[in-house]
Amino acid sequence: MTINIANSPTEKKTFQGHQLYVKRDDLLHRDFSGNKARKFYYFLKQAFPHIKKVVSYGSSQSNAMYSLSVLTKMRGWDFEYHVQHLSSYLKKNPNGNFKYALKNGMKVIIDEKIPKKYNIESKETLFIEEGGRDLFSEYGLKILANEILEWKRKNNIKELNIFLPSGTGTTALFLQKNISDSVYTVPCVGNHDYLKKQFFMLEESEKYHPIILEPSKKRHFGKLYKESYEIWVQLHQEMDIEFDMLYDPHGWITLLEHIKTFDKPLLYIHQGGLLGNESMVQRYARKYQLTTPPPKGGGFSL
Ligand SMILES: *Cc1c(COP(=O)(O)O)cnc(C)c1O
Repeated sequence: MTINIANSPTEKKTFQGHQLYVKRDDLLHRDFSGNKARKFYYFLKQAFPHIKKVVSYGSSQSNAMYSLSVLTKMRGWDFEYHVQHLSSYLKKNPNGNFKYALKNGMKVIIDEKIPKKYNIESKETLFIEEGGRDLFSEYGLKILANEILEWKRKNNIKELNIFLPSGTGTTALFLQKNISDSVYTVPCVGNHDYLKKQFFMLEESEKYHPIILEPSKKRHFGKLYKESYEIWVQLHQEMDIEFDMLYDPHGWITLLEHIKTFDKPLLYIHQGGLLGNESMVQRYARKYQLTTPPPKGGGFSL
């Protein structure tokens, strides 16, 4: 069992007339990509001679869940995943991350109570917080920061503005901690205060906190918005890149609203998560009664 992750490419693109760079962490590896691969890299690389099992929890369609299923499969560990709720629809029609995590041998436990580290962790069992919100994530995110620094040097870029949308904020925080360029982000789960609290849980010193941009409209995580679908299609068409449908649309809309804030070359971090689009596209299709599947580089028309 080894998996080597090569540097991900950085591409120069134009979107809505704005030139920018995209760091393609979605292309890190066929089965292990995006920011979850960066966060869980530690568990891939370190020796864990006594570990036999990983326990984690979160939503039934999370990207972290899928990445952990790949990690545990590769390492020959059992994987137990706790969800508070499983819809009867998903139970009958597994799709997206859920389907592929089950294929990798994930065992699902439905439990109202969120499992606690101190109850679960043992010599043979690792407990991983929801979404990899933990200090171990810095290990792989430091590598991401170093790749960006090396790319800057090679391309003679003195200073950058970096943008990426946040869930737990772990990726943005550890990236900012390991790079001197300004990192900008927007909360996709919860609001500004929630995200700030998440930063403080991982890092006391505010000098390492990313800059939080305010979106003009509140969007609930996981809910479907017409403008989110539209920008997702447009991103695909203009840049020939498929982005994630949960975080990236809100991220790009907010980025464009604040485009004048960025006074240095702009680098957008693509954080992967494309497997989850399978179920999102189906949900959009049901909601808007779309019948033709999205072609490559396009989408349903609304
Ligand atoms: C998990 C995830 C995020 C959020 O990452 P955090 O480190 O929790 O902020 C953003 N984008 C994608 C595609 C993700 O899978």
